[in-house]
Amino acid sequence: MEGIELLKRELSQPKDIVIFSHRNPDGDALGSSMALKLYLEKMGHTAKIIFPSEFPSIFTFLPKTDEVVIFDFEKEETTKIIEHAEMMFFLDFSSLDRIDKIGELVIDKKVTKVHIDHHIDPEPIADYVLSDTTSSSTSELIFDFLNELDSNKHMNEDIAKCIMTGLITDTGSFRYSTTSKTFHVASELMKYNLDLNYIQNKIHNSHSEKQIRLLGHALNKRLEIIPEYHTGIITLTKKDYQDFDIQRGDTEGLVNYILMINNIKVAALITEQPTIVKLSLRSKGDISVQELARDNFKGGGHKNAAGGHAYAKLDSVVNKFKSILPFYIKA
Ligand code: 5GP
Ligand code: MN
Repeated sequence: MEGIELLKRELSQPKDIVIFSHRNPDGDALGSSMALKLYLEKMGHTAKIIFPSEFPSIFTFLPKTDEVVIFDFEKEETTKIIEHAEMMFFLDFSSLDRIDKIGELVIDKKVTKVHIDHHIDPEPIADYVLSDTTSSSTSELIFDFLNELDSNKHMNEDIAKCIMTGLITDTGSFRYSTTSKTFHVASELMKYNLDLNYIQNKIHNSHSEKQIRLLGHALNKRLEIIPEYHTGIITLTKKDYQDFDIQRGDTEGLVNYILMINNIKVAALITEQPTIVKLSLRSKGDISVQELARDNFKGGGHKNAAGGHAYAKLDSVVNKFKSILPFYIKA
C-alpha cells in the first residue's frame, strides 16, 4: 500500500476506528471486517464495524458478531460512532452508494480514510488505498495489509478463521477467482490450527429446511432458460417471498446453481424486493456481467459476479434484461 509508513505512524497511537462494509454483507465483507477489527483491537485500538444492513445468520459462528452495528436498526448509534471516529476503513466495496445513507455521513468527515477492496472501478474515497481486482477477496488483501502493517504479529486462530471465511465464500470454496497467492494465504492461515471442516460445515451445511425447499421451488418453477444466449434466469416474486418467508440471506448462492447447467454461460437471479428489483448476476469465461450491470442496472462488481438494481416492475426488468443479452453474449 502506498504511504504505508505514514499509516503505520498514525496507527502507533491508540485510535477510535470504524470499519464499514457494503449492504447485504457476505462472508467476505464480514470476514475481512471482523479480522481487521480483532487485529486492531489487539494493537490497542478501539474498532467498531458498521454495516448498512443485516448479515446472514450462518456467520454467527465467527467471533464478536454480536458487536456489529447495523445501520438499519441503529441509526443513532451509527451517527454517534461516526462522530467519534478518528480513522475509517472501507472494505469490500468500490463506490460509496454501496453503503447507502452512511456514505453521506462519512464523505465530508476529515479523518484518515483507508480503502481496501477487490472490485472493478474503485471510487477515490480514501487517503490510503489497497485495490487489487486480481485478488480473490478483500479478506486476502487484509492478510497482505496486516502483513505490511507489522508482519502479522497479532495473527491468531480467531482472526485466521475470519480471513479463511472470506476466502472460502468469495471463491466458492476455491473453485473460482483463485491465484497462487490465494492458496499461499490459505496455507499461511492453516498454520493457526484452523478446523477447516468445521468452517466449511458452518458455511455450506447450515441452511434452514425452508431455504433448501426454496431452492427446489426456484429451480423447478422459476427457472427460465434462453438457449440461444446460454442464459438462465430465476425470478422470485413478492408472492414467493411471502409463501417461503424469504429473509435476507435466504437467496444467497441460489444464482450459482444455474451455472451448473452445461452450456449456460450467464445466470441471473432477479428478485422483487419491497421497493426495488435486485439483480444478482454470474457468468463463465469472457462474458462480463460487471459491464452489463454497470451499463443497465446501476450496478457493478466483478467480471464473473456482479449485481445491480432497478426501480421498475419485475416483468419490465426481466424483459429489459432479456433484450440486452444480444449486446453482451454472442448467440
Ligand atoms: P451478489 O450477486 O452476491 O449480491 O453480488 C455479486 C457481486 O456484485 C459482489 O461483488 C457485489 O459487490 C456486486 N454487487 C451486487 N449488487 C451490486 C450493486 O447494486 N452495485 C454494485 N456496484 N455492485 C453490486
Ligand atoms: Mn468480496
